[in-house]
Amino acid sequence: MAVFERFEYQGVDAIRTGRQNHISGSFVNYRVGDTLIDCGPVNQWKWLKPFFEEKAIRQVLITHYHEDHSGNSLNFNQSFNIIPKAHEITVEQLQNGFSIPLAGRIFWGSVPRATAQPLPEQTELENGETVIPIHVPGHCPDMHCYFIPDRGWMFTGDLYIAKVIKFMHRKESLPQQVEDIRAVLACDFDTIFCPHRGVVGQGKQAMQDKLDYLLELSSKAQSLHHQGKTLREITQILLGAEELASYVTRFAFSKRSLIEGCLEVEL
Ligand SMILES: [Zn+2]
Repeated sequence: MAVFERFEYQGVDAIRTGRQNHISGSFVNYRVGDTLIDCGPVNQWKWLKPFFEEKAIRQVLITHYHEDHSGNSLNFNQSFNIIPKAHEITVEQLQNGFSIPLAGRIFWGSVPRATAQPLPEQTELENGETVIPIHVPGHCPDMHCYFIPDRGWMFTGDLYIAKVIKFMHRKESLPQQVEDIRAVLACDFDTIFCPHRGVVGQGKQAMQDKLDYLLELSSKAQSLHHQGKTLREITQILLGAEELASYVTRFAFSKRSLIEGCLEVEL
């Protein structure tokens, strides 16, 4: 576990911590003035706390309850007397506690119960610029992106990650994610702040590319399905053999879950 990078992008401070220095093994926390986006993983607190102490924090906006995003909520309650803001489902999950699959526990630690408060319809940065939460429930039911129209910035939670994805979790809804991406693309932004990928310039184009990829994959999957191919066959043809993650999760997080989603997308 370590700090992999510290950087600044147009006044946004960022720190990447985690277990492995690649996009799924690490997490980027962003600070815009006195606003933080996401709490970061609980097992990275030792590295994150000094970063959070550098500047007074007024608010923490959580994108969704997954452990890498919400893990330090209790630490914010206790060390900074801050009650993070999040969707009401996130607030409930944090209040009641939730179970985390083994891989998540190993990577990011278990999330202790904590207090969060419901998101307002919009909030403001330190300099008065508006932050608009956009509900994007395809990855999980509580997820929000945070849009800062004055800057053309979109904090995307786990909506973007990559232009090309090959895996999906069974609990995710691909048809909803397609709608989510369309909703975000309706906003005027040019930079993505992704907690795994990092800062993505020409972010709107990157998000459009992801949508195009998903629609094309869905179209190919559906045409193979109409030819009578099975789910396994379609997956093998379009995405190749399953990998370790698929077997470890008993196909909950797998290539075939993504193809299953593709068969449900309306084209
Ligand atoms: Zn997530």
